[in-house]
Amino acid sequence: MKCARCSRPMIEPAVSIKTRSGLYGYGPKCAAVMGLIQAVQRARANPARKQETSEDQMDWIEDDPST
Ligand SMILES: [Zn+2]
Repeated sequence: MKCARCSRPMIEPAVSIKTRSGLYGYGPKCAAVMGLIQAVQRARANPARKQETSEDQMDWIEDDPST
């Protein structure tokens, strides 16, 4: 695989980005220059937000089997 930025050949990209036009791989230096490594680390540290329940919000559906 070649680095998408500097075209240097590499065995394994440090960061790979999937786009509509294909898979782009970046070497560790280019990934660092472009801020991709930080972006990936941030994305891994903060995975998709979980749904939070608010305490001051009433439930829409109240399940009451006694009635
Ligand atoms: Zn590169």
